[in-house]
Amino acid sequence: MKRWDALIIAAVLLLAGALYLALRPADGETAALTADIYLSGVLYDSVPLSSGPLELRVPAGDGFNLVHIAPEGVSVRQADCPGGQCVAQGVIRRAGESVACLPHRLLVVLSGASGERGEVDAVVG
Ligand SMILES: [Zn+2]
Repeated sequence: MKRWDALIIAAVLLLAGALYLALRPADGETAALTADIYLSGVLYDSVPLSSGPLELRVPAGDGFNLVHIAPEGVSVRQADCPGGQCVAQGVIRRAGESVACLPHRLLVVLSGASGERGEVDAVVG
C-alpha cells in the first residue's frame, strides 16, 4: 500500500502546482498599468503595458524618443535629445512613476488600470 500513498502524494503535489500556476497574478501589478505619454502637457498616446513588449517612436521636439513598453515596465530606450537624461532614468514600473525628457517636453507616466491619472494634468494645466 506504500506505493499508493506515494502516488496520491504525487497527485496532490501536481494539483497544487497546477492551481498555483492558474491562480497567481499575471506578472504582478504592472500588467494592469497604462503608459500615458504626454507631449508639452498634452496626452499624445496611452498604451496598456499588457499590450507590449513594443516600441513606440514618439516625434518630440526637434527629434524623437523611442519609448519601450513592456509588461515588466516602461523606459525611454533611445532619444536624440541633448544629454539623454530620459534614457538614463531607466525603467519605471509603478503607477505614478514617470520618465521625463525636458528638452523634448516629453513625459511618460504610469497610471493605474482604473483610468485615473495622477495629478499630472492639474500641474501642467
Ligand atoms: Zn531626453
